Amino acid sequence: MALIVQKYGGTSMGSVERIEHVARKVASWRQQGHEVVVVVSAMSGETDRLLKLAKSIDPRGNPREFDQIAATGEQVTIGLLALALEKIGVKSRSYTGWQVPIHTDGAYMKARIQKIDAGRLMADCKSGIVPVVAGFQGLSPDGSVTTLGRGGSDTTGVALAAALKADECQIYTDVDGVYTTDPRVEPKARRLDKVTFEEMLELASLGSKVLQIRSVEFAGKYKVPLRVLSTFVEGPGTLITLEENQMEEPLISGIAFNRDEAQITMTGVPDRPGIAAAILGPIGDANIEVDMIVQNVGGDGHTDFTFTVHRNDYERALEIMRRIAGELGAKGVRGATDIVKVSLVGVGMRSHAGVASKMFKSLAAAGINIRMISTSEIKISVVVDEMYLELAVRTLHKAFGLEEQKAA
Ligand code: ADP
Ligand code: ASP
Ligand code: MG
Repeated sequence: MALIVQKYGGTSMGSVERIEHVARKVASWRQQGHEVVVVVSAMSGETDRLLKLAKSIDPRGNPREFDQIAATGEQVTIGLLALALEKIGVKSRSYTGWQVPIHTDGAYMKARIQKIDAGRLMADCKSGIVPVVAGFQGLSPDGSVTTLGRGGSDTTGVALAAALKADECQIYTDVDGVYTTDPRVEPKARRLDKVTFEEMLELASLGSKVLQIRSVEFAGKYKVPLRVLSTFVEGPGTLITLEENQMEEPLISGIAFNRDEAQITMTGVPDRPGIAAAILGPIGDANIEVDMIVQNVGGDGHTDFTFTVHRNDYERALEIMRRIAGELGAKGVRGATDIVKVSLVGVGMRSHAGVASKMFKSLAAAGINIRMISTSEIKISVVVDEMYLELAVRTLHKAFGLEEQKAA
């Protein structure tokens, strides 16, 4: 008998029929003698709908109220699933984040879980009750409802698994595992039997939305065995593993992409010590995160400075740059939102040279211009025009031999 935390995503909770299907799955794990704690997302599309409603009143409104509104999506699905479980004879009780409670910091819309009081959930498990917990939400130190950022139910699932010392955390979604790339963009993508935490962390942080990055961080930190599986088809899914087998590691495990970036360039900045800090300081002060940074080699005492930010922060970042351009003696400021970042990830890169040049050659052969490049030990990212996203992903998927191996 094991204690298992199961998280069901938005598509899995997308209708009453699907919720009843989830209830039957949970019931079958119970019948096999396992203790189960369930975490659920809102019905697919619901969080978008709620946030749109909030923005229709004031797009820059108080984030506390955005969270109050967004968190209601999960309050509906916990109740529905608990009803569906009871209907088929499984004792169940639903919990919002604050009823558990799941304590977070006070950073609305991107709160971090600080502590979980798992006592009530443990007691339920011991009495044969299946607790159904709302994902994505928590309670701030001042008693307000917070949310954990988009896709945050994954993190609720893993954090609960850590707090309950569960034997496994299962993330049930609409794909049957982690693929070499998003199967919606490359239908030839292949399911991975396993992927290392380190790679999954990179894939998630570089844009693969199959797992929220913080859920992977949590799983790595607390050594929670984590598996991604389909709600709709049976299968082994993908295990996120701590072990690395250097001999067997493929060069590239996956390709991630991120459509959420925007690029800003300050042209003709005086090439002097402290200029990068002078440009990025005000951006940091405005709480805007910077991703990639490129400073050109200067000529005639001037240089161009380019960086990327989240598209949601683009207008604000551009405003700041225009404001300080004069003070810094820059020639001008320009920006672009029609860009994407495409990244290759693989622990095998550590021991192999030539990945970058192969990547650049393949993209060039496909006629794709690279705007920016950044590398680290196990990843290479490039920024390209958004219209080339699909072509870039498919070109690289093929060039690095990631397709499904067809039986001869
Ligand atoms: P849920 O609502 O269950 O949390 P998400 O939409 O958040 O589901 O995540 C699942 C989706 O992630 C898939 O439908 C797929 O399009 C996308 N995805 C992106 N990259 C990958 C990848 N490497 N492997 C599998 N799915 C991926
Ligand atoms: N419902 C939230 C969202 O859409 C959280 C989640 O689904 O994980 O982002
Ligand atoms: Mg998700």
